[in-house]
Amino acid sequence: MKSIAVLTSGGDAPGMNAAIRAVVRTGISKGLTVWGVQEGYSGLIEGNFKRMGSRDVGSIIQRGGTILGSARCPEFQTEEGRELAIRRLRGAGIEGLIVIGGNGSQTGSHALNQMGFPVVGVASTIDNDLCGSDITIGVDTALNVALNAIDNLKVTASSHRRALLVEVMGRKCGYLALMAGIAGGAEAIVLPEVEVVPEQIAKRIQDGYERGKPHAIIVVAEGANYNAEGLCQAFRDKQLLLGFEFRSTVLGYVQRGATPTCADRILGTRLGAEAVEQLFAGNVGVLVGVQGGALVHTPLAEIVSCRKTLDPWFLKAGDLLSY
Ligand code: ADP
Repeated sequence: MKSIAVLTSGGDAPGMNAAIRAVVRTGISKGLTVWGVQEGYSGLIEGNFKRMGSRDVGSIIQRGGTILGSARCPEFQTEEGRELAIRRLRGAGIEGLIVIGGNGSQTGSHALNQMGFPVVGVASTIDNDLCGSDITIGVDTALNVALNAIDNLKVTASSHRRALLVEVMGRKCGYLALMAGIAGGAEAIVLPEVEVVPEQIAKRIQDGYERGKPHAIIVVAEGANYNAEGLCQAFRDKQLLLGFEFRSTVLGYVQRGATPTCADRILGTRLGAEAVEQLFAGNVGVLVGVQGGALVHTPLAEIVSCRKTLDPWFLKAGDLLSY
């Protein structure tokens, strides 16, 4: 193998740049030509490739987002779209591809690999909903942003003796909400994985009020069956008393764009470098991740049919420790 390409796809995640940097510099150290594909699978279909030198990835490790850009590309979900992408790659003399992204992106990389083009995936999504890696690139940064916000909101909630509902990202997976909630000492955590009963939450908060708690923080994942505003509305409609006055805050995209933490820079670096090693060694059709602290390579076929679940210990701990 003499020439490889790298792309970032789907939702951007802090630490993607560290992974791109590691891919480019590890590739060059092995004598490979490395191409950067602009804007994910869209750039692949359009043949939007740029040759990457060591200097092109200088001073990017500390930057959030992705210098290559990311996109959502419905055309890549069709066989014709992927055939065109393969023609573009082969036309540029590229023999292997590294895809840095989450569930959707790795479904795409698996499809491409199955059509005969060698691909290695790198586990990257702030949602941490991808199998094959205990933690994915971007999660630690997103968690720290959410946690900072929770800490700040708790101060003001205490001053005014209020309940604050904080909505964090996570459409299908409540990992961010659960971990930020536990680390932030939330009184209640609302997740997509667990049916939300507004009466139960209200009672829990009111009990805390009566025991003398100065505030209540309710962390809500955006994809729970009530989001933060929906839950406030349910409290009002059902005339549920919390003791505290309540308000909601939606954190939104601020969780995605932050400066990557040390952990995300290291994880991105480690996974990016390992992806090149695997591609170079011909171990393709795998996702590179970490499990139990060690680097692992899991077949993409397993990744796309697997659903990550939340650790039941943390689910229980969230309830128990907020008493
Ligand atoms: P993420 O990788 O963050 O989960 P998305 O789910 O938006 O992000 O997926 C990113 C891109 O991956 C999509 O825009 C599409 O180009 C590609 N993709 C997603 N699902 C498939 C699929 N089933 N087959 C081929 N490509 C897919």
